[in-house]
Amino acid sequence: MKTAAKRIFGLIGYPVKHSLSPVMHNAAFAALELNAEYRLFEVGPDNLNDFLGKLDENNISGLNVTIPYKEKVLEFVTLDQESNYLRQIKAINTIVRKDGIWKGSNTDIPGFSRDLKEKIDPANKKIAVLGAGGAARAVVYVLASFGAKEILIYDIDKDKARNVVDMVISLFPGFNIKTAGNIQELDVRSKDLLINTTPIGMKKDDPCLIEEKMMHNNLFVYDLIYNPTETKLLALARNSGIRASNGLRMLLYQAALSFVHFTGRDAPVKIMEEALNEGVKKI
Ligand code: NAP
Repeated sequence: MKTAAKRIFGLIGYPVKHSLSPVMHNAAFAALELNAEYRLFEVGPDNLNDFLGKLDENNISGLNVTIPYKEKVLEFVTLDQESNYLRQIKAINTIVRKDGIWKGSNTDIPGFSRDLKEKIDPANKKIAVLGAGGAARAVVYVLASFGAKEILIYDIDKDKARNVVDMVISLFPGFNIKTAGNIQELDVRSKDLLINTTPIGMKKDDPCLIEEKMMHNNLFVYDLIYNPTETKLLALARNSGIRASNGLRMLLYQAALSFVHFTGRDAPVKIMEEALNEGVKKI
């Protein structure tokens, strides 16, 4: 009897070396006894089209997508009617082959949404967002759809911040979102929630973008970074006695949803969480 070929999934990006996605997905495949494997595919920009063109040939059934390809893969996938808004968000992080068609989705959005809601309700909150890249676009979409009162967004690249504002206004006409010209203009002292979506904090010698004097008791600090689990920003929040969260559970929840897209099965979230917690200790 012919046994079915192992289904291959993975993460495509550049770079992808320290990703925690394989430990979570492979633990889930093992727990459900699925003949599947999750691999890392570090693909340089010059090889992207070639790689995507050969997915079927290489027996790849689904991929997560990370920096710098979340926008680029839009050209490669079909979007369902209900996912059409992702054209404006310009960020796809999961692609799956279904009935011979590659379908795209974004699990960062529901992943962030679920984690944030477990910690703080963004409705009617005044929010400062640092960074305006791919993750910020997902974050700001969630904040606007939950009915945040106002968002101020700052990025060193002013055009990127303006593009995020335009994206939100196009999806939520009249929504109160503006760019800040610098970090002081974010006016963190008047905000309920501060979200870091920049990668500043991942490297040991990165600065802390926020000063101690900007901290206040009513603030919640959410840093999307999960490696390290405590950035300088999160340490500052802890030392100031302020509620805070890293991005570990957002990562877990987006992975769990990607798993559902990949396999059509419920994700064993507890097992994925244990694998993630073990994995994070090793990096
Ligand atoms: P990205 O597309 O490169 O966006 C980062 C943005 O931050 C860029 O626009 C960058 O501008 C800007 N930036 C860099 N330094 C800055 C500074 N000092 N002040 C203000 N803005 C600055 O990256 P991404 O995909 O959005 O990811 C960002 C971070 O979120 C990464 O650390 C990633 O690991 C994390 N993330 C976490 C999860 C999770 O599940 N927890 C999911 C997605 C992403 P330039 O391009 O001009 O440098």
